[in-house]
Amino acid sequence: MSAIRLARGFTRRSKVIKFAGCYHGHVDSLLASAGSGVATFALPDTPGVTGAQAGDTIVLPYNDLEAVHEAFHRHPGEIACVITEASPGNMGVVPPDPGFNQGLKDACGKNGALFISDEVMTGFRTSRAGWYGVDGVRPDLMTFGKVMGGGFPAAAFGGRADVMAHLAPAGPVYQAGTLSGNPVATAAGLAQLRLLDDAAYDKVDAVSEQIRTLVGEALSKEGVAHRLQTASNMFSVFFTDRQVRDYEDAKRQESYRFTAFFHSLLANGVYLPPSSFESWFVSTAHDERAIQKIADALPAAARAAAEATA
Ligand SMILES: *Cc1c(COP(=O)(O)O)cnc(C)c1O
Repeated sequence: MSAIRLARGFTRRSKVIKFAGCYHGHVDSLLASAGSGVATFALPDTPGVTGAQAGDTIVLPYNDLEAVHEAFHRHPGEIACVITEASPGNMGVVPPDPGFNQGLKDACGKNGALFISDEVMTGFRTSRAGWYGVDGVRPDLMTFGKVMGGGFPAAAFGGRADVMAHLAPAGPVYQAGTLSGNPVATAAGLAQLRLLDDAAYDKVDAVSEQIRTLVGEALSKEGVAHRLQTASNMFSVFFTDRQVRDYEDAKRQESYRFTAFFHSLLANGVYLPPSSFESWFVSTAHDERAIQKIADALPAAARAAAEATA
């Protein structure tokens, strides 16, 4: 919300491009992903968000640079920013095609818009420097939350100094909050980030690979069509045999198989994210015992997925 306000204040433009299937929190203007056709103006996704609030949001298909170029062409001088998940995890894991983030950055630069990379999910998770540490594309603004609070409510945004200088009190764009800079949350987050050394990232990368391998083997053994998609240590399973590059692809999976898979695992003490449109996360707490428990529960879950009917 604040990053977009700043982008609008800085560029003195109104429109925002977001991608179908990307989630950016419950800010009114971004609760819109309907009509992923090229340059469709979005309809609100939830009661309580008015057409006016969502009306400056342009929703485009993810991984589609052509659609982005076309939107800039249709709305010259009107687009304040493009916001994207650095590597999306809110439609399941759908990593950017090679060159996609760079293409967004270039299109923004050429058209006087800002490129906002939402690292709320990927930040401090996919590497110590987030997804930026993986693909190296430098956005104009970045947003953080989740991991950075160490379990406490904390979030942040930052970026180019000339853009940030437009924020109050240095500049005219207002931003404030009673709990901004809350000392307990800030101390907790900082303590955790200091603990996240190279060994911690090596560990979660290795655990992620182990679990992916186990899941892939179990599903293959039962002949269940699936795709494991990975972005650093984030991954998810799609019950389809086709690559998932955007939200429409993600919705084409056989979600009923996930339901059966999920409940079988849950009955055996393994709690997956409860939707086939969520990323799976691993943590440093996943030890050998936990991984063995997952391995033991997978054969029955794969069978349940194979036998599931729509
Ligand atoms: C969770 C999430 C948010 C929202 O964070 P809140 O703390 O719920 O506002 C924003 N962006 C992404 C990519 C997220 O995964």
